[in-house]
Amino acid sequence: MNNTETQNAYEVTIGLEIHVQLATRSKMFCRCNNDSENAEPNTNVCPICMGYPGTLPVTNKQALEFGVLLASALGCEINKFQRFDRKNYFYPDLPKGYQISQFFYPVGEHGKVEVDYLGEDRKTKKEFAVGITRLHLEEDAGKLTHGTTESLVDLNRCGTPLAEIVTGPDIHSPEQARAFMYELQRIVRSLGVSMADMEKGHLRVDGNISIRPVGQTELGSKVEIKNLNSFKFLEQALNYEVGRQSEILDKGEVVVQETRGWDEKTGTTISQRIKEGSVDYRYFPDPDLPPVVYGLEEVGKMVADPERLPRKLREKAKSLGLPYDRVVELQDMAKLEEFVELATDVVGQDATRSVLVANWVVRGMEDLSSDKRREFLRAVLEKSLSNTIATQLLKELISSDRSVEEVLANLSQVDSGAIEEAVAQVMVDSPQEVERYRAGEAKLIGFFIGQVMSKMGGGAEPALVKEILDRLLTK
Ligand code: ZN
Ligand code: MN
Repeated sequence: MNNTETQNAYEVTIGLEIHVQLATRSKMFCRCNNDSENAEPNTNVCPICMGYPGTLPVTNKQALEFGVLLASALGCEINKFQRFDRKNYFYPDLPKGYQISQFFYPVGEHGKVEVDYLGEDRKTKKEFAVGITRLHLEEDAGKLTHGTTESLVDLNRCGTPLAEIVTGPDIHSPEQARAFMYELQRIVRSLGVSMADMEKGHLRVDGNISIRPVGQTELGSKVEIKNLNSFKFLEQALNYEVGRQSEILDKGEVVVQETRGWDEKTGTTISQRIKEGSVDYRYFPDPDLPPVVYGLEEVGKMVADPERLPRKLREKAKSLGLPYDRVVELQDMAKLEEFVELATDVVGQDATRSVLVANWVVRGMEDLSSDKRREFLRAVLEKSLSNTIATQLLKELISSDRSVEEVLANLSQVDSGAIEEAVAQVMVDSPQEVERYRAGEAKLIGFFIGQVMSKMGGGAEPALVKEILDRLLTK
């Protein structure tokens, strides 16, 4: 079932709510280690994060800074007055009976993320923008594991700092939703505020989706899909909903506003609860926590450097002459930053040279220091080294600490004998060209270089070939 099978044309509207686990050293309001990945259940806890009455939370400064850093990277206006509120509800994984969150004064609001991504054909660049309604900080709850006869509670995750991001209803296809999440993951990782591993629950997403006939002004009824824990499931669940809702509207029926869950076994969404009005969490300011108040200068020190954001990196790579599909390839390999740094120094804006540098970055120069990488690439570009020679050079640079010049001089010595032989052979094979060259037809040098290079199977340095040719031809 998908939207192409439907009889009528519908417009899809999607908004996302994302929880990002922040990789701070300690938890949001206590000194417990924030990394529970290898901890036994209920061992990484203290009276504060277990919600004992009478304990006092203290706000984690690093979490506050991460909040500002991330919100600014998402283009949000940063609130200089932020405050924590209590969101009251009862659940077994929430021993306090309330979650500390920011309702009235979040970290940031009114942001915008511009996304560009490679279409299915792996050639076309697609672009769209997503408004960020708000980003606020809060604490995570514990984890419940449901067995057949019992349910288990693990409170290790209680108090883990979260950034909750709410997007505007600006996403218009499941493919865009996935592209946005990938971009968000890249942003979060580039800032170092979270590992952002979806499978590990560092990045959790709920999708709100509705469809309406093209041309209709009011939005259709909204279905919320909870806790999608992979990029693939996000796209699949949304695609399934587009199909399901289209069929309902095709029949002239009405989509029920409800919360649904993704069932990966059947590849369908399943109704979980019908929403009748909104839940009242009775939010009020947490009396245990002072508000956070920043001066303009303080905020200025915490905001993200726009030059280092993934989109900016893509733009830089593009302006260095690299085609968009190669930009995305390097980005997917997490090597775009390396490319931009190297290419900025050695390339200029020449597309051919950019592609050459990209090829070497893809092949990997991890065993070379960044200075040596530059030296190596400069030599490859400036001396137009053949692939064979460049590969040998790279190998030598990795295994010894000789300079590029030393290695090249050595490689040339080894080579020059073989090149001289090839040149002599070419001269014997082409006596007329030799005569014409000696009579002043200088452009024939290209012909000779070509002949010698093909005799050497590409394994010679063109500059050296030319040098030897010059010497032997003018004898
Ligand atoms: Zn604790
Ligand atoms: Mn939340």
